[in-house]
Amino acid sequence: MADIGLLPAFLQSWCTRNSIVFQSRNTAHYHLQSNSLCCSYATKISRVNYGFGFWRTQSLVTPSLTKPGTRSFAKNRNRKVLVFQCSQLESKNYHIIVLGGGVAAGYAAFSYVSMGGESNQLAILSDEPVPPYERPSLSKGFMDPDIRMEPSEFYTCAAVAQFPQDEKWYEEHGVDLYLNTRAQQVDISSKKIICENGYIFYYEKLIIATGSRARRYSPSQVPFSNLDGILYLRSIEDANVVRNWIDELKGQGKAVVIGGGFLAMEIASALVVNNIHVTMAYPGDYLLNKLFPAQVAKQYEQVFRDKGVEMLNNCFVENFYERNDGFASAVRFQDGRKVFGDFFIVCIGAVPNIELFQGQLQLQNGGIEVNHRLQCVGHSDIYAVGDIASFPLKAYSNRPVRIEHVDHSRKSAASAILDIFHGNPYGNTKHRDDPRLSVFRAAIDTTYNYIPFYYSRMFELCWNFYGDNSGTTFVWGNVPSKMVTLWIDWSNKIVGILLEGCSPFEHRVAHQIAVHRPKVDTSELQRIAQVSQVFEHLLNLLPEKMEKIRTIQEENVNK
Ligand code: FAD
Repeated sequence: MADIGLLPAFLQSWCTRNSIVFQSRNTAHYHLQSNSLCCSYATKISRVNYGFGFWRTQSLVTPSLTKPGTRSFAKNRNRKVLVFQCSQLESKNYHIIVLGGGVAAGYAAFSYVSMGGESNQLAILSDEPVPPYERPSLSKGFMDPDIRMEPSEFYTCAAVAQFPQDEKWYEEHGVDLYLNTRAQQVDISSKKIICENGYIFYYEKLIIATGSRARRYSPSQVPFSNLDGILYLRSIEDANVVRNWIDELKGQGKAVVIGGGFLAMEIASALVVNNIHVTMAYPGDYLLNKLFPAQVAKQYEQVFRDKGVEMLNNCFVENFYERNDGFASAVRFQDGRKVFGDFFIVCIGAVPNIELFQGQLQLQNGGIEVNHRLQCVGHSDIYAVGDIASFPLKAYSNRPVRIEHVDHSRKSAASAILDIFHGNPYGNTKHRDDPRLSVFRAAIDTTYNYIPFYYSRMFELCWNFYGDNSGTTFVWGNVPSKMVTLWIDWSNKIVGILLEGCSPFEHRVAHQIAVHRPKVDTSELQRIAQVSQVFEHLLNLLPEKMEKIRTIQEENVNK
C-alpha cells in the first residue's frame, strides 16, 4: 500500500493535481510540500472502509493521527479541518493476533496453517509494506550482484518450506494480513489494539512479535549523525537505500561500515562483492568479540584484509562531518582518527520494540519475560516470540536469555502456535511428532527446549554456532578452509561448538553435541592435532543413537 496508485481513482487525480507526495515510510501520511496541506488516510482503502483528513498547518509537521471519522483533527487553531471523505472504521475480532510482521509472524502463520487452523481467525498486524520475509536475506541474496533477489523470492517461509508466502498465499489460507498497519496502543486489560490507521482489533490470544529495530546514534550524543548518507540496515526499505547507493557509485565508491558484529561483517562483505571499497571500524579489539575467541576472530579478520577491507579496531565514534551538499563526508573517532567515505553503514546492534508493553508486561533482558511455554508472566493468553522474548534456556540451567537470531524466531513462533492449539502441546506426543512440523522438531519437547543456533554468511564463508559460548575454548584448523572451536564449561562439559567449512554430517554431530553436552577429558582434546580427528572423538562421546547417524554417513559414502 505504499503507492498512490492504490487510492481510489477520484483521489489519485486529486493527489496528482496537488502534487501530493509519498512522504514517509508510514503510508498514512501524505504531504503537499508547497503549502503544508496534509492528508492522512486509513489503509485497506480498496477492501473496506476508509477515513481521510485534510488540513492546513502553518508549519509542516507530521500530524498526530486521530481516529478516522473524527472531524476535529485540529485542536490547534492553525489547522483548518477539511474532511474530504470519512467513514467510521469497524473494529475486528480475532482468535489470535500476531503483532509484528517479521520472521516470527511468517512462521506463526505457516505453523497455524500447517496445523489446520480455522480461516480468518488469525491476523497479522505489520507496519511493513510487504508480507513477512526472511530478514537475513537483506544482507545476503538481496545485496548479491549476481542474483539480486527480490523480496518476493524470500518471503517466509522460503528458508525451510521452499515457498515464499505472498499476499495471495495469506488470502488463500485464510490468514488476514494487515500491512502498513502499525499498532499505536495495546491495552492488555481489554485485549484491544489500536492502530495508527484507525483500525481497532480485539484478540483472544496475542502473540507479540515486534522484533527489534536498528540501534541508532542520536545527534545529541554523536554530532551530525543524522546526515544523509548515514545508513542502517534492518528493513526492506533500509536495504533498498543501501542498494541504491551501491548502484549510484557503480563500483567506484568508498563505504565505512561501523560495527564489528555479524551484521557488520555481512554487509562489509556484500559491499566488497559489489566492488565498493570498505573500511570496517569496530569498538572491540577484534571482530565479533561477543562470540568468537580472539584466535578465531583474527582468522576472519585476515580474510577481510585479503579481500581488501581496511580493518580498524578500538574505534568509538565521536562525530561525523558534513559535506557542502548535506551528506556525511567523514567520521571521526574518539582517538582522533578520521575516515572519509561516500556513505556510512552503522551496525551497532538492535533495540527490542517493547514500548507498547512497558508498564503492562514484565520485562527482562531488555525484552518481555516469558515462561517455558513462551507465555508472558501473569498473562497466559499473551505470548512473546523471536527477538523480543526473554525466555528460560532450559538446556542451560533455565538461564533467562534473549536471542536475536533467526532460528529462534522461527521455532519460538511455531511453538507458541502449538501451545495455543493444544494447551501444552509439549507433553502431547501426538502433536510433538506431527510430521508437518518436523522443521521445528528441535524446539519441541516437554517445554520450549531451545538449543541456540546462529549462523552467518560472508564471502564464501559460512559459520554456524550451536549451544553456549561460555568456558574455555579449544580451536582446530583454520578459516577459510575448515575450523572447529569447542567451548568447555567448568564441569568439563562441551557446551558450545563453532564450525566453518564442515560437512552436513559434521553439522549434525555438532548439533547433537550441543543437545547432549557430553563430558570430555580436556587432556585428550589437547592431544588431537587434526581438525578431521575432532569429529571422530566427538562421535565417541555421544550416546548410542548417534550410531544411526554414523551408519547413514557410511552408507552415503559407500554409494
Ligand atoms: P523482526 O523480523 O524484526 O520482525 C518484527 C516485525 O514487527 C517487523 O516487521 C516490524 O516492522 C514489526 N513491528 C514492530 N513494531 C510494530 C508495531 N507497533 N506495529 C506493527 N508492526 C510492528 N540472524 C541469524 O541468525 N543469521 C543471520 O544471518 C541473520 N542475518 C540478518 C541480517 C539482517 C540484515 C538483519 C536485520 C537481521 C539478521 N538476523 C540474522 C537476525 C534475524 O533476522 C532476527 O533475529 C529475526 O528477524 C527476528 O525475528 P522477529 O520476527 O522477532 O523480528
